[in-house]
Amino acid sequence: MSYPALVALLLVIALSVGIFARRARLLVGLVRKGKPAQRFDDVPARIRNEAVIALGQRKLLQRLLPGLMHAFIFWGFIALLPTIAMAMIAIVDRTASIPWLGEQGWFALLVDVFAVLVLIGVITTFSIRKIQRPERFKGSHTGEAELILALIAGVVATLLPWHASRIALSLNEWPAAWSPISSALSNLFGGGPGTAAAERALVWAHVLIILSFLAYVPYTKHLHVFTAVVNVFFGRTKAHGRLEPIRFDEECPEEEMRLGLGTVADMTWKQIVDTFSCTECGRCQDVCPAHATGKDLSPKLLIMALRDQLFAEGPSLLTAAGSGDSLAPLVPAAVSDDVVWDCVTCGACVQECPVSIEHIDHIVDLRRHLVMVESRFPAEAEPMLRDVERSSNPSGNAQSDRAAWADGLDVRVLEPGDPAPEVLYWVGCAASFDPRARQTAVSTAKLLKAAGVDFAILGPRECCTGDPARRMGNEYVFQALAEQNVETLNDVAPPTIVTSCPHCFNTLSSEYPDFGGNYNVKHHSEFLAGLVRDGRITPTASDTPITYHDSCYLARHNDVLEAPRELVAAVGKPIEMQRNGKRTFCCGAGGAHMWMEERGSQINEERVREADATGAKTLAVACPFCTVMLDDGVRTSGRDLRVADVATLLAESIEQRSDSE
Ligand code: SF4
Ligand code: SF4
Repeated sequence: MSYPALVALLLVIALSVGIFARRARLLVGLVRKGKPAQRFDDVPARIRNEAVIALGQRKLLQRLLPGLMHAFIFWGFIALLPTIAMAMIAIVDRTASIPWLGEQGWFALLVDVFAVLVLIGVITTFSIRKIQRPERFKGSHTGEAELILALIAGVVATLLPWHASRIALSLNEWPAAWSPISSALSNLFGGGPGTAAAERALVWAHVLIILSFLAYVPYTKHLHVFTAVVNVFFGRTKAHGRLEPIRFDEECPEEEMRLGLGTVADMTWKQIVDTFSCTECGRCQDVCPAHATGKDLSPKLLIMALRDQLFAEGPSLLTAAGSGDSLAPLVPAAVSDDVVWDCVTCGACVQECPVSIEHIDHIVDLRRHLVMVESRFPAEAEPMLRDVERSSNPSGNAQSDRAAWADGLDVRVLEPGDPAPEVLYWVGCAASFDPRARQTAVSTAKLLKAAGVDFAILGPRECCTGDPARRMGNEYVFQALAEQNVETLNDVAPPTIVTSCPHCFNTLSSEYPDFGGNYNVKHHSEFLAGLVRDGRITPTASDTPITYHDSCYLARHNDVLEAPRELVAAVGKPIEMQRNGKRTFCCGAGGAHMWMEERGSQINEERVREADATGAKTLAVACPFCTVMLDDGVRTSGRDLRVADVATLLAESIEQRSDSE
């Protein structure tokens, strides 16, 4: 054993760990300062997410080449971890190694293979950055990323020749055949005193690069090396479209009280870990419809800006001085008003993010603060918020007209105390009042009747679910409507609720449980597909090409993918758009954008262009908002496309069948 080497090693370890610990203290302190978030339930699903998203790199592998290269580096990092201890032991005593593992030939092979894979991963990633220069990296800390890649390359570039020098010196405990690459490299060494000196230099270089990495990484965006697995574990496990409710009750402890996100002091601990975990990969930005149509919003830059603000104010946040007015308002200190209002809450960013960052929670919380504390929001949305509050629907129509769409259809309107029907059809505001969306309600009612389903509607007792007010940030109004609707629904206690609107579907099924409303909710496409499967309605198949647009709140937020496609296939010949399923592209209406002016180029026109490119002349939808937005997009872009709900297409097919019989 070499005591001088031991002392030197302990000194450099102490220095590196000291620098690391200084940063870790700040990071842990900030997380501990975070407001509460309920993320300790559903542990089996969390473990599954960890295995699939973190260890399995599932989301990264959605883009094969960069995903695979990252996976090589990540898996290599795990596989090569024991070699750090081996190198440190060898510094002190070159003939010693880790007991048992240090003698295993298979481990030697693993080290050789993964060292090469990591090197391939680093070189390819570097080339992608330098040669392809993807737009998604714009605004990221690329210099930092390249230095980190160089350090990783340095780790494996010293590991392999170090092993090779040990083979040349016959210091390896396993047969050289288990290390084909190191063995081949060992031919470069003569085996004499020069090799012994090289072995010392290489092992020291290897350890010093690793310790530099440890000290440097927490000060960079590669902090995600430590936080990403934690963030994935605490990511959402179900109800992806659900927003965390705000507590307004008087029993709410003071430390839990928050009216959205005004300053960094309002961030929940999960939101703080989110910002620490961003890898700046830009995958979220690549899929963001607001960014794609030239708006100011980039979900990546938003998360980075929140992190920058957190680090700028973090030290004072941890002292009494940072607990009050001394903190800057996040809007506009970190992000502009436009960035906050550009979001359509489509969830594409959340779906894509490899480290389970939940951008929508940040954005809606920023809106909550602007709306509820500062009364600051786009002026054109004001009538909607007022009408939702006063008239219980966002278009300001009289509630007494809510069932007018059903005139002449002989639809039962439930009165208080009536027995519950087999199905309560929750029509939603758009399908109740909007002239174009009403056709969906009419078609659904006709189909339910044709199948002999015992159903009824609430008529004037059905109020807006509160979704647009909530996505705008007005949690007060949302919760008032939620409580009113839950009281009505609990009174009716329907075995099944069917709704045509994915936004209502999301709120009824995923958000009302927080207010005591637990229901069996089906989207009309699911219920109608079941009726077709059971032979209760029989459409006529045709060769008409139909392309189906997945609504974000149906496909991405709630995993309803197959049922609408079954209906399309039952009446025509389906053709998929380029972006489909969970990787769909928004129509532009979500996040209350139905009631806001859109700056710059239009999201709905972008989607209509994609639909038109399929060659289909029918664009099927399963959402009243998508119906209106895409129909607008067809008109303004002058395309020759018919936009129709799947229920309407199904009803027409059945009518054609009866006409021909
Ligand atoms: S939810 Fe959609 S619009 Fe909002 S930031 Fe994410 S991708 Fe962009
Ligand atoms: S938020 Fe997620 S997807 Fe976006 S840049 Fe950061 S890590 Fe990548």
